[in-house]
Amino acid sequence: MRGVVLWFRRDLRLADNRALERALLLAEGGPLHLFFCVSPRLIEASTGRSSYLAAALRGLDRSLGGRLNLAHGDPAAEVAAFAARTGAEVVVATREFTPLARRRDERAAGLLEAGGARLELGDSPYLLPPGKLARATGGWHRAFTPFYRRLAEHGFDAPRPAPEGALIDAALSEPALRDPKALEVLGLPERFDRRRFGASEEEVLAQLASFAARAVEYPAGRNLPGSEATSRLSPALRFGLVHPRQVAAAMAGLPGGDEAVRQLAWRDFFAQTLASEPKSAWENLEGRFARMVHDDPSASPARERLEAWKQGMTGYPMVDAGMRELATSGWMHNRARMIVASFLIKDLHIDWRIGAGHFMEHLIDGDIASNNHSWQWVAGSGTDAAPYFRVFNPVLQGKKFDPEGAYIRAHLPELSHLPTRFLHEPWEAKRLGLLQPGAYPDPIVDHAREREEALRRFGEISGKPGSGPVGEAGQPALAEG
Ligand SMILES: Cc1cc2nc3c(=O)[nH]c(=O)nc-3n(C[C@H](O)[C@H](O)[C@H](O)COP(=O)(O)OP(=O)(O)OC[C@H]3O[C@@H](n4cnc5c(N)ncnc54)[C@H](O)[C@@H]3O)c2cc1C
Repeated sequence: MRGVVLWFRRDLRLADNRALERALLLAEGGPLHLFFCVSPRLIEASTGRSSYLAAALRGLDRSLGGRLNLAHGDPAAEVAAFAARTGAEVVVATREFTPLARRRDERAAGLLEAGGARLELGDSPYLLPPGKLARATGGWHRAFTPFYRRLAEHGFDAPRPAPEGALIDAALSEPALRDPKALEVLGLPERFDRRRFGASEEEVLAQLASFAARAVEYPAGRNLPGSEATSRLSPALRFGLVHPRQVAAAMAGLPGGDEAVRQLAWRDFFAQTLASEPKSAWENLEGRFARMVHDDPSASPARERLEAWKQGMTGYPMVDAGMRELATSGWMHNRARMIVASFLIKDLHIDWRIGAGHFMEHLIDGDIASNNHSWQWVAGSGTDAAPYFRVFNPVLQGKKFDPEGAYIRAHLPELSHLPTRFLHEPWEAKRLGLLQPGAYPDPIVDHAREREEALRRFGEISGKPGSGPVGEAGQPALAEG
């Protein structure tokens, strides 16, 4: 073998990295070149995510003894140029499934072939590769529960440890080639809290171990944004500092562990949805939603309302706490994501795509499959979606999932002095003189009225009067989103 390139993308780790194992095998002790290309497109998409990526690359490079080759530019063209420069015969990478990644890989394969090399793709960033679990009747799964049942029945591989350091060392070529522009990106400052979100493989494995030790708290605690019951592994999973097989294995057999694997399976579920229906990234899966009437976010009052939502100034504390958590940390608890998404779509009548775009700009775990399909799930237009007529009441959601107000106090300092009973209805505190006028906004809309308006608009596209079992009824079923 003339040489092998391992092209890292969403698999920035050494343990259970099947592409790395394969590359070592193909290299047979010959030269192995480790390669990552910083895409300006990714950097422009989100400062938070770029900052996490930079930290993850620094960690990976450290564990590779500083021998990660770094390019900057169009990844397909750059990997082909790198293979030509090193004279490598084969480029190995983990297969990806988003429309953008698939187009990139098709181009890369063509360019490599023209240069006399080939691209070999395998494994996936999921428990099972999207498409593996077809329905008994053929086609992909539109409902989560049967998908999850099949996944659990099918099972998935156990994770494998990192290849021995000596093995990697022996194969690695030196010195690394580094584009100065890529090094600039690598030097980006950290815009996330590293104590909460590990950003090296070592830190992430410690985070996983700590999550496993708290697994028993997960089923009851995972819906409480004010608790620390969830894993916060989503950015690490997004960039592949850990593989979901490793998470599933760490949780296996623990009380609470099954629930964690079930949540992890949502990630697989949305990935198979996107892989099967690439247009669903930005188009409604359910066609009738194309007729849904939205307010125009470039015109008043939707423009100001959208801005208030982004700033966490809607006057509804649960919504505002979520949006401020996003703004300050680049992450948001799942329950809060559902509440703020429902508010944007059903109280402000703004198209889910605007919210999905805002999330993609700010989330350090921003992932097109999980994000956009979760937005469609809330909108009612996606797979296994929450029925449109179930409208989250932000006050009741707050009382139920943040009963002591821990989440609100953490993110809305202007309300933190209030007795708990006023935290979800600060307008009552204002009425009693416990909150100064101007200290916190009055609600920008009347939830009860906007819920009726949402149902009316839904009635228009469903051909029925907008009615149904509304309100908080059926909430437990929504918890899994
Ligand atoms: C509107 C909206 C947008 C979202 N956008 C994203 C996104 O861009 N990226 C992202 O990773 N998740 C997204 N989610 C899903 C979920 O909110 C996050 O995965 C979760 O909050 C991450 O926190 P955690 O790691 O502590 O999760 P845990 O509860 O510890 O779960 C473990 C892992 O399982 C996966 N997971 C859990 N719940 C879900 C879910 N509902 N859908 C998909 N995967 C899930 C995640 O990879 C997560 O890290 C979104 C949810 C909503 C409602």
